[in-house]
Amino acid sequence: LSRVRALDGAVHAFLETTEELALSQAAALDAAVAQGRGSELGPLAGVPVAFKDNMNLTGAHTTCSSNMLRNYVSPYTATCVQRMLDAGALGLGKLNMDEFAFGSSTETSAFGPTCNPWDVERVPGGSSGGSAAAVAAGLACVTLGSDTGGSIRQPGSFCGLVAVKPTYGVVSRYGVVAFGSSLDQVGPFARSVEDAALAMNALAGRDPLDCTSQAVDTDFTANLAEGVRGMRVGVVPAFMEAQGLAPEVKAKVQEAADHLRKLGAEIVEVDLPNAQAAMSAYYVLGPCEAFSNLARFDSVRYGYCDPGHADLGAQYEASRHRGFGLEARRRIMLGSYLLSSGVYETYYYPAQQVRTLITQDYARAYEQVDVILAPVAPRTAFRFGEVTDPTSMYLSDMFTISINIAGNGGMSMPVGLGADTGLPVGVQLIAPQFKDENMLRAAAALE
Ligand code: GLN
Repeated sequence: LSRVRALDGAVHAFLETTEELALSQAAALDAAVAQGRGSELGPLAGVPVAFKDNMNLTGAHTTCSSNMLRNYVSPYTATCVQRMLDAGALGLGKLNMDEFAFGSSTETSAFGPTCNPWDVERVPGGSSGGSAAAVAAGLACVTLGSDTGGSIRQPGSFCGLVAVKPTYGVVSRYGVVAFGSSLDQVGPFARSVEDAALAMNALAGRDPLDCTSQAVDTDFTANLAEGVRGMRVGVVPAFMEAQGLAPEVKAKVQEAADHLRKLGAEIVEVDLPNAQAAMSAYYVLGPCEAFSNLARFDSVRYGYCDPGHADLGAQYEASRHRGFGLEARRRIMLGSYLLSSGVYETYYYPAQQVRTLITQDYARAYEQVDVILAPVAPRTAFRFGEVTDPTSMYLSDMFTISINIAGNGGMSMPVGLGADTGLPVGVQLIAPQFKDENMLRAAAALE
């Protein structure tokens, strides 16, 4: 907590600290140790953690970095947060993000941006930029983020961290403010693969409060020391030749493939013929789901209420106009249009068909390989204000989005600094559905 007080002024990862919670948890742990019950403590006992601000924690604000929820205090705790606390982790507070998780730079936060601790003139990535920056600056050992199209993996890459988006259904979404319910998944940021795997052990599993969550009894730490001998690692030529992929990033992915080969893995080329349509499908499906999910912020049930309107329609309009920032309004307008009659048939329905094709592409690829190696982001962390038009910002996720579309697990693994920019580069490891342990095993070999 004193490190956060001393250093977060320069980083702005935290929106709120929960000192009382952390100190009372720490006191309870101390008391247990003093009474000789130390061996009964949870696997994350005493580990300082923090949460993206779209995750509810009783008594703390959950703002989603939006003016819409500036004053919202959580009346309950998200399952992912509760599981970390139940494992003994100390909750330090809530972390900055792009508004409602729309973005790739944390610049759309209503509370101002978060800086990349590697170079404070650069973005930490997004939308879970606060979660990445907090771990990179040593303000927490593990943080949680959410990933709808790349929001854990891309900031993980920009900040040099291990950052895991599990297979859809591994972690409960209960209590996490929804963006795209069929795409959202919670996962950890950490400094080592083992730390991330320990957090995965705490997070994973069936939750009766989220009907899409699955029973998982994997010990994610079990095979980390196994190495990659005999593992089949896929590389996707179309990803490696993609326009816009920086040479320094491409070089790092190639080095990682060479390294895995030297350790005994077999490198196999695989095709994902429909993956190039993932971006188009995502920017139809994502806004449609966001439009639907954000309808609840109507100034009556939740959120900012613009005062002085006699007419309910005018109150809705003014509250949503003033409560939501530009990118949130853009997504809502887009989703509203795409779901309107006549348009729905032309865009939404085909996007769902593309989704099936991409899911089948991945399933077919995993008949040949155990894990896929790819870039995370086309380039390293950019400067504030450098990427201004929405389309260029959306391209930050060109290598991560198809994984959310298909529902597979994906993670960013730091592999050193780029030769041109000297900034952290991550490589992406992508697992078959519900075989997230495969990517952690390959990642451990790259550590
Ligand atoms: N950058 C992507 C978007 O803005 C993904 C965001 C996310 O994963 N939450 O939609």
